[in-house]
Amino acid sequence: PGRLKDKVCVITGAAGGIGAASAALFRAQGATVIGVDLRDDFDGVDLALAADVADEAAVIEFLRRAREEYGRIDVLFNNAGISPDDDVSVLDTTLEAWQRVQDVNLRSVFLCCKHGIPHLLDTGGGSVINTASFVAVMGAATSQISYTASKGAVLALSRELGVEFARRGVRVNALCPGPVDTPLLRELYASDPAKAARRLIHLPMGRFADAKEIAQAAVFLASDESSYITASTFMVDGGLSGA
Ligand code: NAD
Repeated sequence: PGRLKDKVCVITGAAGGIGAASAALFRAQGATVIGVDLRDDFDGVDLALAADVADEAAVIEFLRRAREEYGRIDVLFNNAGISPDDDVSVLDTTLEAWQRVQDVNLRSVFLCCKHGIPHLLDTGGGSVINTASFVAVMGAATSQISYTASKGAVLALSRELGVEFARRGVRVNALCPGPVDTPLLRELYASDPAKAARRLIHLPMGRFADAKEIAQAAVFLASDESSYITASTFMVDGGLSGA
């Protein structure tokens, strides 16, 4: 306990699998957690705020609320994201579907960094963690072109911001989970158990991650223990991308 003592942390997608596991672990390590999700009727945080992270006015407002309530923001964990239907070929991907995924997964990260980093700078710096995915660094053999493209862009954006702010006390890293056993993944594989089995074959550890295992990496990146880590691609994928 105490690895995140006195840190004020904003976690988006805090009602979801990885977000809720992270909120719990962050708080267990002494952090104050402001959780953001589409609805505010979820537990496990110090302050729950409802916002669409793709909406610029909403992003500005939840950051303002967090700052006003706790006086500072030390950690921004941009974790909210959506995954479209699996196995939709690029040939069948509508522009509307493509755009919604870019808005929720990429535009949101841009907005949260653009409007969130000034708060971190104001109070001496901090850590930004942007959730990308293993699909940002390797072919996933699933045709989720809009998702893959959005996560690749999150990775590139994070690297660039990590470099830009390296001398000003704000670290920015891309956290890349492998397949995690969350509602998001369960939904994707429910329709096709054979696909889950195929995915497991390629996982060196032979199992999906537990959300807590992603949260543990997020705690590290949020804490001062990772003080020399920025602009990094932080894989938490059970060896998938290394195999
Ligand atoms: P999840 O669906 O359990 O949680 C995502 C949360 O984000 C939900 O609570 C949802 O309500 C919220 N959300 C969605 N759109 C939003 C919006 N516009 N504004 C605010 N909140 C919104 O999914 P998860 O598995 O916990 O995923 C978290 C992150 O991890 C996502 O960015 C996802 O792409 C990424 N990821 C997940 C896996 C996996 O296998 N589960 C693998 C790699 C990366």
